Amino acid sequence: MTTSLCLKCGILKGGALNECPSCEHAPLDWQAATAFTDHYLTESELGQLGRAIQILSKVDVDDETRYQAFVYFVARKWPKILEYGIEEVDSELATILDSIYRTHLVSLPSQQSLQLRSPEWEDESWLHAGTSEFQIEEDAWKEGISNIVQYGLNTAHAVVTLKIEIGEGAVLQKLAWRTRNAINHTDFSAAAQRIDPLIADSAEYKRLVKRYQAPVVNGWSGQSKKRSAYLGGTYVRLEEMAKLCGRLIRHKAGIESLIPLEVERVKQELKFSYATYISLVELVLCPEKITCSTTEGD
Ligand SMILES: [Zn+2]
Repeated sequence: MTTSLCLKCGILKGGALNECPSCEHAPLDWQAATAFTDHYLTESELGQLGRAIQILSKVDVDDETRYQAFVYFVARKWPKILEYGIEEVDSELATILDSIYRTHLVSLPSQQSLQLRSPEWEDESWLHAGTSEFQIEEDAWKEGISNIVQYGLNTAHAVVTLKIEIGEGAVLQKLAWRTRNAINHTDFSAAAQRIDPLIADSAEYKRLVKRYQAPVVNGWSGQSKKRSAYLGGTYVRLEEMAKLCGRLIRHKAGIESLIPLEVERVKQELKFSYATYISLVELVLCPEKITCSTTEGD
């Protein structure tokens, strides 16, 4: 059974999402709950983090601030667990968190290694969820995945169409474009106006994917978790594509000026983003291509 850290009282307990036998706290945030388990950290590391929670439990602040202070501590001393942008926290709270950190937690040990343990689901329960209850939820989830991918593909298609229209397609498309452009000059400014809504669509796709990833839990099969991870990769690539295409168009429209070397780099990156996006989409849609040993290429 998974050993996890109770984020309220700091003891080690069995199961990531189970109620704590000591303080009865039941985790609501599964991502946070699963991050602090022996899937990723050794028991001794979990124990060290538990110490911080126990110290914080005696600090006279409300529960929310206490939790934030723990997160702040983890980000400072254990950055391998969590990325945390202190600049996103409002400055008053940031001052409070920093002062709690300096007064109570600064002397606690930090991470000793950069590596997280690789999660057990990498090699365990690959095709089937942990229990039949999980299996039902998981099956429903799998059915909806192609709709979400389709939304992204529509945006990707529109980006690629625009890319061809500005003369950056593949060889044959470029040739056709040159012929057309000799007759009717491409209106790059008009194209530049069409890229912004596509960048917005790619951001919307990111929000949709993140919402879709939220119910994925530890009891599900490794395959679904991997699909969810690849789905996450698709929004990163799609956003990248839309932004890179935007730079290229703005350059051609004379709005943003790139030096020739940069133009080449943007084109190469765009090509790479698109290729990666397509292979991730394939993996999400055809999970039989995913194997246990598949690791992300970059
Ligand atoms: Zn507890």
